[in-house]
Amino acid sequence: MKPYMTPASALPPIPDREEDRLAALRRYELLDTPAEPAFDQITRLAAKLLKVPVALISLVDRDRQWFKSRIGLPVQETPRAHAFCAHALESDAILVVGDARRDERFAGNPLVTGDPNIRFYAGAPLRTADGLALGTICVIDDQPRAALTPEEEEALRDLSAMTMAHIEARRAVGYLHPVTSLSNRFRFLADLDAMIANREGNAAAGDDAPTVAVVIDTAASEQYAQLTRVLGQVCADAFEVDCARRLAGCLPERARLYHLSPARFACILFGRPDREERDDDLEATLDRISAAIRSPFQYQGVPIASSTGIGFVRLPDSAAGSVELLRAASSAAHQSLEEQKPWCTYDEEQDRAAHRAFLLLRSLTEAMAAQDQLHIAYQPKVDLRTDRCIGAEALLRWTHPELGPVSPAEFVPLAERTALVRPLTEWVIGAVLRQVAQWHRQGIALPVSINISMLDLGTGDFADRVESMLDRHGVRADWIDFEVTESALMTDRAEVDRQLHRLRRLGIAVEIDDFGTGQSALSYLKDIPATAVKIDQRFIRSIATERSDQIMVRSTIDLAHDLGYLVIAEGVETQEAYDWLRLHGCDIGQGYLMSRPLPPAAFEAWLAAGAFRPAALPA
Ligand code: C2E
Ligand code: MG
Ligand code: MG
Repeated sequence: MKPYMTPASALPPIPDREEDRLAALRRYELLDTPAEPAFDQITRLAAKLLKVPVALISLVDRDRQWFKSRIGLPVQETPRAHAFCAHALESDAILVVGDARRDERFAGNPLVTGDPNIRFYAGAPLRTADGLALGTICVIDDQPRAALTPEEEEALRDLSAMTMAHIEARRAVGYLHPVTSLSNRFRFLADLDAMIANREGNAAAGDDAPTVAVVIDTAASEQYAQLTRVLGQVCADAFEVDCARRLAGCLPERARLYHLSPARFACILFGRPDREERDDDLEATLDRISAAIRSPFQYQGVPIASSTGIGFVRLPDSAAGSVELLRAASSAAHQSLEEQKPWCTYDEEQDRAAHRAFLLLRSLTEAMAAQDQLHIAYQPKVDLRTDRCIGAEALLRWTHPELGPVSPAEFVPLAERTALVRPLTEWVIGAVLRQVAQWHRQGIALPVSINISMLDLGTGDFADRVESMLDRHGVRADWIDFEVTESALMTDRAEVDRQLHRLRRLGIAVEIDDFGTGQSALSYLKDIPATAVKIDQRFIRSIATERSDQIMVRSTIDLAHDLGYLVIAEGVETQEAYDWLRLHGCDIGQGYLMSRPLPPAAFEAWLAAGAFRPAALPA
């Protein structure tokens, strides 16, 4: 059978504001959703009242009509070109087709010539408050019929109004937060958009008082997660309800309160036109909010304190859309939390840094796939007793296509805050193993140190993955070692220890990097199954002259030696530092004095030029 092509004269007309209509249809989130009893009750009632076998709620999409509810019809959708309903959108009148075979628009329609053999059709449009027809509620018979009686017409109109009321109510529920029944993030964004759109109108009317959007984090996200974990969801919900109550209690009359996401609220404050008092009013309100949410919350008699952040943006200051405003206010709230200030306004400088971080994170995946963005540089490690190069540290380099060179000190900590750190580490290990295998083929047998994050070790299968990568590249375990830095973002400590022991059993040496900084405490030295400690460069830079550094480093060397570790000093920049370290028994040195980190070919040339021997020392 030849497929039916609707002749141009029989195609449904395209309504005037078609794109707006389609956008509205999307916003209601009805298309391709499961059947819902409330809609099916309406179509059943339509079929009964109008005594027809088929009743439908049809939504007219760009190329199809899709049935949200259908009685007596097996198909879920039909092409728009065949849809009777698509002819019913333009007019408010009910479209009635008494006998489709006698209507030239429908006589050749496959729904008429074949199943379901439509003869009679009556459809009433489903129109939104702003006049956009989403589709119809319609009834269909396979027998021709005369026009609708006035009662039938009234029934169909009522059913159409009921359907629309239900569609609106359904959407309103989608705008509420289930825990507090406050308006949710979608409502917040929609309200902001409406305010931005009306701003010019308001300004023209002389109402130029600024509207302020405020984001209130009533607990840092980890804290909220912990609250849920330790005391359960019921307590976390109670916390949110309490926050909502306190916030509602301290907002001015015209403000609107929203519940955006767990422990995150927002409000819109409307400025008063009497200019003088405006800023004082705002500050007083913010102070009240801050005081209200900062007093500890009680759950079954247990006081629970949380850290909070409040950030705000003024609407007229910004030409941005709602999503951007929300982001700016959230960034300000984050800043208030970090700096422990009662509230912060949006800070562009700070935000630029956050933007850059986001841009870097977004392009890091692409960088790993690209051929020419990530490279490894190799910095020699020198035995201080023999002045010979005994290894190298692999240091990651990134040339971003727009931002140019980006330091690993900037992007590695960012990657550590996301799931990207694992693939990044894997990329580095792969690149280093290829290079090490290649060097061994060339007769260069130097162990290469790879920096890894504690977070890599918390993942459970790190050692397994390393083992299989060694196999794949034909690299022996003692041709590489790992440098680990204790991270502030500590993961499962027991898992880290298990992985480190497994690495050691594989025959891979482990060095504690940046020793003496941050959290690399003595207890850490005792617990970690390491082979060496690498004293951080900030103690080494002025080692030849700074007495306090000398004391620290000397005792670290002794302690580490007593515990059986090798000692490495990083950041050796001067001959004096080199000499001092050598004299005090430090085993290995690394720094710009010997060489900067070099691309592989330059590193080979450096090696070929002869092992490092400081001029001042006897050969
Ligand atoms: P790190 O592991 O402590 O590496 C030593 C850093 O000191 C390197 O900076 C190196 O270029 C620099 N450096 C070496 N000698 C001297 C010196 O004499 N004077 C001074 N002022 N600096 C010196 P870089 O390459 O910028 O790396 C910074 C940090 O980024 C590294 O510190 C490491 O924590 C991290 N990193 C680098 N590559 C990787 C990697 O592949 N994976 C991971 N997870 N982290 C990496
Ligand atoms: Mg290192
Ligand atoms: Mg270091």
